[in-house]
Amino acid sequence: MLTPSSVEVLSPAGSPESLEAAVRAGADAVYLGGSSFSARASAKNFTDEQLRQAVEYCHGRGVKVYLTVNTLLREDELPAALKFLEFACSLPVDALLVQDLGLFWLIRKAAPQLPIHASTQMSIHTPAGAKFLYEQGMERVVLARELSLSEMREIADGCPVELEAFVHGALCMSVSGQCYFSAMLGGRSGNRGMCAQTCRLPFSAPGGTGHDLSLRDLSMITRIEELRQAGVCSAKIEGRMKRPEYVAAATAACRQSADGLPPDPFLLSDLESVFSRSGFTSGYPDGKLGVSMFGTRTKEDVTGATSAVFARLHGLYREERSRVPVDLFLTVKAGEPVCLSAQDEEGHSAQAISDILPEPAVNRPLDQERALAQIQKTGGTPFLCREAKCQLEDGLSIPISLLNRLRREALDKLLEQRAHHTPIPFSAPCLQETPHEPKQSLAIRAFFASAEQVCPEAKDCEIIWLPLHTPLSQLLRLREEGYPIGLALPRAFFGGEDTVRRLLSERMEQGFISTWSGNLGAVAVARELGAELHGGFSLNITNTASLRWLEDLHFSSAELSFELTLEQCAALGGDIPRGIVAYGRLPVMLCRNCPAANSPAGCKNCTQPPLLRDRKGADFPVQCTRTGGYRYTEILNSVPLTLHDRKREIRGQDFVVFRFTVENPVETGNILRSFTSGENMLSHYTRGLYYRGWEQC
Ligand SMILES: [Zn+2]
Repeated sequence: MLTPSSVEVLSPAGSPESLEAAVRAGADAVYLGGSSFSARASAKNFTDEQLRQAVEYCHGRGVKVYLTVNTLLREDELPAALKFLEFACSLPVDALLVQDLGLFWLIRKAAPQLPIHASTQMSIHTPAGAKFLYEQGMERVVLARELSLSEMREIADGCPVELEAFVHGALCMSVSGQCYFSAMLGGRSGNRGMCAQTCRLPFSAPGGTGHDLSLRDLSMITRIEELRQAGVCSAKIEGRMKRPEYVAAATAACRQSADGLPPDPFLLSDLESVFSRSGFTSGYPDGKLGVSMFGTRTKEDVTGATSAVFARLHGLYREERSRVPVDLFLTVKAGEPVCLSAQDEEGHSAQAISDILPEPAVNRPLDQERALAQIQKTGGTPFLCREAKCQLEDGLSIPISLLNRLRREALDKLLEQRAHHTPIPFSAPCLQETPHEPKQSLAIRAFFASAEQVCPEAKDCEIIWLPLHTPLSQLLRLREEGYPIGLALPRAFFGGEDTVRRLLSERMEQGFISTWSGNLGAVAVARELGAELHGGFSLNITNTASLRWLEDLHFSSAELSFELTLEQCAALGGDIPRGIVAYGRLPVMLCRNCPAANSPAGCKNCTQPPLLRDRKGADFPVQCTRTGGYRYTEILNSVPLTLHDRKREIRGQDFVVFRFTVENPVETGNILRSFTSGENMLSHYTRGLYYRGWEQC
C-alpha cells in the first residue's frame, strides 16, 4: 500500500519573480533551471548567484528546490554540466531532475547522496520502467503525462519510488522525450529545451479539427485527492515560461486543494482567464482520449487576461506567507538583559538579547498577556508562531518597541540559519574517452513496421527487427526462410506491460531472444526475462557516458540518437557496438492520442496510414499501432531521411539501421540494394540533423 499521506504542491519558477510568487502563494517545492542545461531554454532561468539566493530563500521558508538539468547533453557539454552540478551540490539543491542517461550514470557516481528525479522527458509510463529506475538509484519518477489514474496506481503498487504527476498546464501531443518534430523541422530540439511548438500550428488529419496536434491544457487542480489515491506524492504545475501571476494563481489553487479545501471558484476562473486553450482537459487521467482533448488558443482565451485579473492575482503574492512554525520564549529578569529565543521544528535556534536592562515599573508593569501578544506578532515574516512562552519577573517594565525589535532580530537570525544546509559531497568523475573503433565493416540492420514489408534483400542484414506483436507463425516462417530476426519492443505500451511480458516470454521460448528497446520500460521487461538487449534510437543516446551505462547493463548494442551530427556520432567513445539510422521516415512524434481518430470514423482507416497535412501542404503519415494489449501512434516525417550517397561519411559506427514504415516490399528491396551501390534514388529526402545539428541555445 503506497499511498502518500499528503501531496506536495510543486510550482515552476522560470524567474526569481515567479519563484517568489510560488513560495508566497503556498508552494511546498519549486523546480527551476540554471542558465544552461535546462529544458526551458527561453525561460529566464537563474544565474549561479541567483540560484544560490533562490536556494537560501526557499530553504529559509521550508520550501524544497529541484534543479532541472533535463536536456540531452552532447559529449563536449558534460564537463561543464558536471561543474555546474558540483556547484548545485554545494548549495545544496534538494534534488536534480535529469533526462540524459549519461548524466544520470555520472552523477550517481559523483554525488551518490544527491537525490535524483527522472524527468518526464525520460518517458516513464510503466510499472517495470519506474521500478528499474528506482533500483538504479532514482528517488522519484515524474510520470509521463499520458497516464490514467489507474495506470498511475499500478505503477505505485509496483515499487516504492516517489511518483510525481502533472496537475495543471500544457500538454504536448507527443510523449515527452519522444518528440523530434521541432528538431527535424528547424533544428530546435524539444530535448534541448528549444521546442518551437510545431504542434500548435495547423495540422489536419482527414475529417479532423484542423488543429489535430494541439491538445488543451491539463487541469486536475480540484482533484488532487484522486492523484494522492493513485499514489502520487507530488503535484506538478507546468509553466516555467509563464508569468508570476499565473504561477501564483495555479499554486494558490493547488494549495487549497492539497489541503483538502475546494479551491476558490473565483481563483479558478482567474486562472483560466490568464491562460487556457479553449478550456481544460482531464482526458488522460480519466482514460478518455479523443477529439474532446484537442483545442487551440482562441481570441476569447487571449482577451480574458485583463489587467484587473492580473492585479487580483498579484495580491496573492504581495506579502510573505507566514508558514514556518516557530516556538518563541521570552525571559525578563531584573538585572539581566531581556532575551528572546526562537526555535524551529528542525532544531535551529536563535536568540536576540537586549542592550538595556528591564527597569522597575513606575506605572503598569509588563504582564504575561501583553508580552505574549507582542512576541507572537509574526505577520509579514515567513514564520507562524506555534507556541509562545515567557518567564517574567513581577514589577518590571520594558519598552514594547524593544520586544518588537527582539522578535524581528531573533526571527531574522533563525531565517538565516535555516537558509544554510550542509553541502552534498561531490567527487568529479573521469571523462577521458577516445573515439570508438569498429571491429568489423559496416553492418546493416533493418526495422520493418510489419512482416509484409520484408524483402529477400533483408536476409543479408545483421538483424531485422519486427514488432513484438508480429504473429508467432510469421516469425517462425521468416526465421525458417533464413531471416535473422529480432523483436522490436513497442516504443510505448501504456497499461500494456503484462501483454508485452507475455508476448516476449512466448517468443523467447521459441528462441527469439534479441530485443530492441526504445524506452526504459521495455528495457526493464527485457532484462527481467533475460533477453539480449539492444538500445533503440529513442533512448536518446548522445554521449559516451550513456553508452557506458548501457555497457554496465550488458547491452549488446545501441543506436545513437538521430539528433546528433555524423561528426558527433563518430567522436563518441566506449566499447559497445553502435549504429545510426541511415534511412527512414523518422518518427517525429510518439503519441497516445491518434490524430486521425479526430475524424468521426476513428482509427478505422488507420490500417492504411492516414496523412496529416501542414499549412504548406506537406503530408506526414500517421502510423497507428493497435494491438489487443497496447496502442500508440507515431507521426512520421513527410520525407525519408537517407544517407545512401553519403556512406563514406559514416564513421565510427558498427552498423546502420534502415527504418521501414510505409514502404512496400518492392520499395524496401530497392532501398536496401541501392545502399550497397551508394546510390540515392529519392528525389525528396532529408539529411535530418546529421549535418546541421542542433540550433544553439
Ligand atoms: Zn489511429
